[in-house]
Amino acid sequence: MSLIKIEQKHNVNLAPFTTIKIGGVAEHFFIAHTSDDLGKIIEECSGQFYLLGAGSNLLISDSFITRPVIKLGEKFCYTKYDGELLEAGAATPVSSVINYTLRRSLSGLEGFAGIPATVGGLVAMNASAFGSDVSSSLVKLQVMDYNANLKVLEREEIKFDYRQSSVKNSMVILRAWFGLNPEADLRSKIDSFLKTRYATQDFEFPSCGCIFKNPPSNAAGFLIESCGLKGLRCNDARVSLKHANFIVNLGKARYQDVDSLIQTVKEKVYNTHQIKLLEEIERWT
Ligand SMILES: Cc1cc2nc3c(=O)[nH]c(=O)nc-3n(C[C@H](O)[C@H](O)[C@H](O)COP(=O)(O)OP(=O)(O)OC[C@H]3O[C@@H](n4cnc5c(N)ncnc54)[C@H](O)[C@@H]3O)c2cc1C
Repeated sequence: MSLIKIEQKHNVNLAPFTTIKIGGVAEHFFIAHTSDDLGKIIEECSGQFYLLGAGSNLLISDSFITRPVIKLGEKFCYTKYDGELLEAGAATPVSSVINYTLRRSLSGLEGFAGIPATVGGLVAMNASAFGSDVSSSLVKLQVMDYNANLKVLEREEIKFDYRQSSVKNSMVILRAWFGLNPEADLRSKIDSFLKTRYATQDFEFPSCGCIFKNPPSNAAGFLIESCGLKGLRCNDARVSLKHANFIVNLGKARYQDVDSLIQTVKEKVYNTHQIKLLEEIERWT
């Protein structure tokens, strides 16, 4: 590939770009600093690429990744408020948005405090926490489709489901607008959500959050724990001792180690409960 002006790197180790710190080498790694850049990269890749947010929901193979990887650059990393809507660039870390809302006492996103994601990833995955999903406060998105067309989608034009959206794997989110409400005591709400999150989720070791979706009227973590699988290990991958739906990397875990634990967990849960666990994480192979 030969692109002029656009930031393109070769043979980039993807592990540091994921929260579980696992992943092979990307043959082509692009950083899009503007929507024009992005359009050119998408055209160059003929719409076949992986899009990287904060890598907090990804399990990437240790092999050589030949499909180009695209990441949005710093120009897509900002938050602003016009008195009515909060606008955030898709590459903005959720933590920055939460800090911004805290300074302006704007409520609606505080349940997502502590999630190590970007705004784009949060919306594409329709992340949820404490009974509310991100689509609830979303007003509109600026997106680029895989033919490099830029458009604005109103909330009603986007389909959202459990950890799913119609923009995921078909559009690149560039910016999102949220409708938030004034809240005098946002600090204590955030503190309380963070306290619960740190008490229940495993932040001691690298992970990609929950591995499995919750089956209807069941919690995947509860099902896994009931099979006695907490602490199960494959080399340096371990079913978290704190949250059975997390698999953590104790240091040198590989893709195959995590995959092997996932297969064992699925099998044991099925044999015990006759429930098929579906993966929430996205795999890049
Ligand atoms: C410790 C921990 C706690 C977590 N807690 C929660 C939780 O409470 N609730 C919850 O729902 N999830 C949680 N997660 C999972 C994860 O953070 C979410 O799925 C998050 O939305 C992923 O965002 P990301 O930026 O990391 O995306 P990535 O993991 O990089 O990518 C995930 C998907 O989003 C797509 N994507 C990323 N950016 C864009 C974009 N700009 N446009 C279009 N698509 C894009 C990617 O292509 C990929 O398909 C947790 C994860 C961890 C590690």
